[in-house]
Amino acid sequence: MSWVFVVDPQKHPLDPVHPGRARFLLNAGHAAVFRRYPFVIILKEEKPDTMPSPLRLKIDPGAKTTGLAILNEASGQAVWAGELTHRGQRVKENMDQRRDCRRSRRQRHTRYRPRRFENRKRPEGWLPPSLESRIANVLTWVARLSRWCPLAAISQELARFDTQLLQNPEICSIEYQQGELAGYEIREYLLEKFGRTCVYCKKTNVRLQIDHQVPRSRSGSSRVSNLVTACEPCTQEKGNRTAAEFGHPEVAALAKAPVRDAAAVNTTRWALYHRLQGCGLVFETGTGGQTKWNRTQRNLPKTTGWMRAVSA
Ligand SMILES: [Zn+2]
Repeated sequence: MSWVFVVDPQKHPLDPVHPGRARFLLNAGHAAVFRRYPFVIILKEEKPDTMPSPLRLKIDPGAKTTGLAILNEASGQAVWAGELTHRGQRVKENMDQRRDCRRSRRQRHTRYRPRRFENRKRPEGWLPPSLESRIANVLTWVARLSRWCPLAAISQELARFDTQLLQNPEICSIEYQQGELAGYEIREYLLEKFGRTCVYCKKTNVRLQIDHQVPRSRSGSSRVSNLVTACEPCTQEKGNRTAAEFGHPEVAALAKAPVRDAAAVNTTRWALYHRLQGCGLVFETGTGGQTKWNRTQRNLPKTTGWMRAVSA
């Protein structure tokens, strides 16, 4: 449940309150609705001076959505949670449409003009508009939330998986592959890549295992390009056969294709990390693999677990 943000008559943020308390304040006429979303109420009278307890904002940037959660630092309680839906794909489609439109116009009207794109340069730190939109969405919400509640610190999930290290096992250290955490990062990556489905029967919401599409006994490697997610019955049935022999020739190409979303997520996360450094709040980072590892070790449920687990 999300608590309600409260501001004093001078619009300075106070401790968020329970929705029941907010309802009481509104009904008794001690407060008025200040904003609908996120729901903020404004007190009509000055409150005796108390320091608001510091809150921590947790950010988990993703390709399609970004999870935001606010925790009370002292009690560890989740005060507010939300999910931002990004419009990255739509931005890309709009840009493609604009490019086509300009190309066609140039062909029709301005072919005689000397080309000028060759003396254009992209500034330092330039990102494609579809990624820029994701970062702007998050920064807007960070600014918005810090206006309505006493934020003291930010935690951000940095890289859920390092695509380069996973694609080129030669360049990474032995610890990275053998550590307990590495298995989780790869698992996370594969789950994300195949959309949490079994590649053979396309079932979702089943226990998934990592399957070598060319079996290890047939000299298949443990590289990511040979790994897929599959449910237990399919893995059993497939046995010592390759994916093609099992009747799924498309899986080989599927496993080799890099994850576009993963690249977008990684770039966005790093850019966000650099820009959030300048916002004057205490900053802390973690990775999704670590979160999941903590969560599994502590038997925490997924929905609220990731928030508590990173802070631990
Ligand atoms: Zn299956």
